[in-house]
Amino acid sequence: MPTTDYYDIERELSPEERLIRDTVRKFVTNEFQPVIREHFRAGTFPVECIPKLGEMGLLGANLSGYGLPGINNVAYGLVMQELEHGDSGLRSFASVQGSLVMYAILTFGSEAQKERWLPLLGTGKAVGCYGLTEPDFGSDPDGMKTKAKRDGKGYVLNGSKMWITNGGIADVAVIWAKLDGVIRGFLVEKGTAGFSASEIKTKLSLRASFTSELVLEDVRIPDENLMPKAEGLKAPLQCLTQGRYGVAWGALGSAMACFEEALSYTRERKQFGRPLASFQLTQAKLADMVTEITKAQLLCLKLGRLKDAGAMRHTQVSLAKRNNVRMALEIARTARGMLGANGISDEYPVMRHMCNLESVETYEGTYEIHTLILGKDLTGFDSLVGI
Ligand SMILES: Cc1cc2nc3c(=O)[nH]c(=O)nc-3n(C[C@H](O)[C@H](O)[C@H](O)COP(=O)(O)OP(=O)(O)OC[C@H]3O[C@@H](n4cnc5c(N)ncnc54)[C@H](O)[C@@H]3O)c2cc1C
Repeated sequence: MPTTDYYDIERELSPEERLIRDTVRKFVTNEFQPVIREHFRAGTFPVECIPKLGEMGLLGANLSGYGLPGINNVAYGLVMQELEHGDSGLRSFASVQGSLVMYAILTFGSEAQKERWLPLLGTGKAVGCYGLTEPDFGSDPDGMKTKAKRDGKGYVLNGSKMWITNGGIADVAVIWAKLDGVIRGFLVEKGTAGFSASEIKTKLSLRASFTSELVLEDVRIPDENLMPKAEGLKAPLQCLTQGRYGVAWGALGSAMACFEEALSYTRERKQFGRPLASFQLTQAKLADMVTEITKAQLLCLKLGRLKDAGAMRHTQVSLAKRNNVRMALEIARTARGMLGANGISDEYPVMRHMCNLESVETYEGTYEIHTLILGKDLTGFDSLVGI
């Protein structure tokens, strides 16, 4: 029976990469799948998974030092794929914690910040969030209004951040703010006076994930909470490249879950006296799906090998994020239709994935923003320069 590994990409993976993937698949199947539907309905994240993700070494898994696992980037990508096969909310948790927060601290933080936070975040004993987006500045973060001011022996932060994953449960927030007009990164700890998070309860997408608005009102933090090595927009964008890499792999997981469901459903479900899968229109849809999944798998594998070789360009990540998320969204929408009325029920995972992917298409750079990044790379004309 053909599977979602139509080109036998399995052969390209090392025994260690396969083992890591299979371990995550088992965890997602046995421990996450049974609870996801209730969490999606309730609009909550299964926080009991956090220490387990830590125990399995899945938080900041591709980072090294400070007790972190330092697995290669293909293995890391496979982790993201398997987590998102469960739900985009689970992969988002791991992406934000590892690729955005831990990567930021590892790359831009002081020695004391790394020693304090990386072991806690890597084991899931602490949760982090990444505050870049603001109510009025999403695709254009350079315009951010959040400001830091030097004040005696520290800084005072004022502003607000919007759509922040894990915001309400985070022990530490990476907050990007302008200090004398230059974007800098600050660590703001839970409970700091003037710092508050309120849950966004209106989401119809990524429901099994906490998303918050953060408000900073005269938040005083000491000198040592400034990440010394981050200066300018390129610092948060460098973190986003890491996040987007994981998103490109994660989208594969959602696409594969939807394809698998559409295939098994149409093989079973009979109309006009025969299985839906026996009709040519259905077969064309399945053929298109597996073709797109296979292309995206090859793209991810090559991107991962380039990353491991230190040869990956951020524009290549844009291409993969843009392609794979749109591909997954289209597969999810098609699969939704193929399940008929059952497709809209949460008895099946398809519409949950479809709704989630609407967020995944928007965050970490929208489809349009990645199009413009590629456009600039190809033509040399930057359409995103402010006028
Ligand atoms: C569930 C969820 C979780 C998130 N988690 C985080 C997080 O943890 N941390 C964080 O900092 N942010 C987070 N975000 C925010 C996310 O990164 C932003 O939503 C995203 O960058 C887009 O910004 P925006 O929503 O303000 O849309 P806008 O920037 O207002 O864009 C609206 C539309 O206009 C299009 N557009 C914008 N500029 C152009 C242009 N020049 N040309 C053509 N079209 C354009 C966009 O592509 C989009 O379709 C999250 C978002 C969601 C939905």
